[in-house]
Amino acid sequence: MNIKIPMLLLFIVLAGGLAKAQEGQANIVLISLDGFRWQELFSGADSLLVAHSDYVHDTTELRKLFWRSSPMERRKALLPFVWNTVASIGRIHGNRNHGSKVDLTNAMWFSYPGYNEILTGKADDDRITSNDKIPNPNRTFLEIAHSDTRYHGKVAAFGSWDVFPYIINEERSGVPVNAGFDVAKGDDITEREKFLNELQPKVPSPWGSVRLDAFTHYFALEEMKKNHPKVVYIAYGETDDFAHDGDYGAYLKSAHTTDTFIKELWDFTQSDSFYKNNTLFVITTDHGRGTQPLDTWKSHGSEIAGAGSVWLIAFGKGVKAKGEVTTNEQLFSNQIAPTILQLLGLQNDDIKMPGAALNFE
Ligand SMILES: [Zn+2]
Repeated sequence: MNIKIPMLLLFIVLAGGLAKAQEGQANIVLISLDGFRWQELFSGADSLLVAHSDYVHDTTELRKLFWRSSPMERRKALLPFVWNTVASIGRIHGNRNHGSKVDLTNAMWFSYPGYNEILTGKADDDRITSNDKIPNPNRTFLEIAHSDTRYHGKVAAFGSWDVFPYIINEERSGVPVNAGFDVAKGDDITEREKFLNELQPKVPSPWGSVRLDAFTHYFALEEMKKNHPKVVYIAYGETDDFAHDGDYGAYLKSAHTTDTFIKELWDFTQSDSFYKNNTLFVITTDHGRGTQPLDTWKSHGSEIAGAGSVWLIAFGKGVKAKGEVTTNEQLFSNQIAPTILQLLGLQNDDIKMPGAALNFE
């Protein structure tokens, strides 16, 4: 009899603690910009490319938009949200001019191996050797989260490239992936989703396997507004495809637009009671591109020097402001998945992730 009250108290204390721990668990928004170079992230428009008529239709217009006298001004013109807001609330890794290095550990330096490394926490150069639509044998952090009762049904992925359903292994993992030319589905689709569904086939993409990023972005934003997934992955794709096309103007304009998309996502999360002050943003890229000879800016892959150099941005929940990192350091893309799993309070019991979780405090 007399033991009942202490037990009840203990239960209340424990339950309260658990509720608090779950409340405190950060939501995650992981974003990637396909093949966006660290050179433009940290220095803005490239002096050799911005005025080059082989790569720019209207050099006067492009210079007006993005050319400024110093690299600091150029990067602000190109990516105003990153350099005005994120630089003051988060941290930006990968400026090799200052000794901050972020590298891939896979040796392929193209998309599927890059995304596999980011999402599964481990390079797999034996099995992930092409961009073919092969269901990933490795488990992504999205799959690990979705298979845990705490996050089941609260994980969503959006990509412009139609290979993402295979990279995330949508069929095995059960993680919903809206990618390529997929539309919003379900009986609860919003007016905006209906409109996006109607609009997408009427706005032709320049590419067969990659849609324009605005569709990916607004499908993702609508899902966040509607269902509040706790773990979101958004993979923008235009930067890589415009670069392969040799269109430097479109590459820069796309990066600039993506910066506004990220601002829109951040502003939404900070205006929404579910996400506000409780959401971590991590942004990265799947590979770099060349610089020398000049034409290699269009390309990447193991034969292109520098294409394994990438970058990493973090801001939001749990990130102590540090701004642009200007000290020597070496980070790797395979550290992203273990970092996210740790923040979600999840164990990776399947494969050993070799990278250490990053500490943003
Ligand atoms: Zn890529």
